[in-house]
Amino acid sequence: MCHNRNGTCQEDNLPCSGHYVNNHCSGHASRRCCLPSESHVQDSGYCSNVKVISRDSWGARRPSSILPISTPVPLFFIHHTAGHTCFETNQCIQALKGIQNYHIDSRGYNDIGYSFLIGQDGNVYEGRGWNSQGAHTKNHNDHSFAASFMGNFMSHLPVQKALDAAQALIECGVAKGYIEGDYSLYGHRDVKATSCPGDSLYNHIRAWPHYNTVPPTLE
Ligand SMILES: [Zn+2]
Repeated sequence: MCHNRNGTCQEDNLPCSGHYVNNHCSGHASRRCCLPSESHVQDSGYCSNVKVISRDSWGARRPSSILPISTPVPLFFIHHTAGHTCFETNQCIQALKGIQNYHIDSRGYNDIGYSFLIGQDGNVYEGRGWNSQGAHTKNHNDHSFAASFMGNFMSHLPVQKALDAAQALIECGVAKGYIEGDYSLYGHRDVKATSCPGDSLYNHIRAWPHYNTVPPTLE
């Protein structure tokens, strides 16, 4: 597995020009796979102006099953996690692991629910990604993707670099053919009685391109 991806199994206290990933090497836990940096962020499906931290990089658990999604999708939803926010990558990774554990162990999902999560460090974290259906927006999961800002944005906005990251991710999704060119953007509360994605963030995204004041219909 490590070799197939051009990596090297070695003790993880040794320098690695890329980053270490777990569970790819035999032996004890400190013997890990050093993957070269080019496989770190810009795997196919992403764009050079969006920093996407892959599942391997944040140490995601494996999904118990995967539901495919047919693309391009017509809708994109914005959420907030309403939980702890994070300003540093290590903090964001801890938060992500907590969210994934909660979604799998407490809610019974196959995986973390969101397609992507956005940290206040300006990074996009890969959740279910572009290739599988999420569990984020009831009745719309099979024809939309969703990004969730980590934190509670009722009374304040995410930092600018996080807002920029979300918009760049959506544009990238369109450019790569995962999202329709004439997609509609919504906040979670547009389709459900919820405070998500928070008053401040919701008011803000209503000025984004493709925000649609007409709620989506269900077929
Ligand atoms: Zn939501």
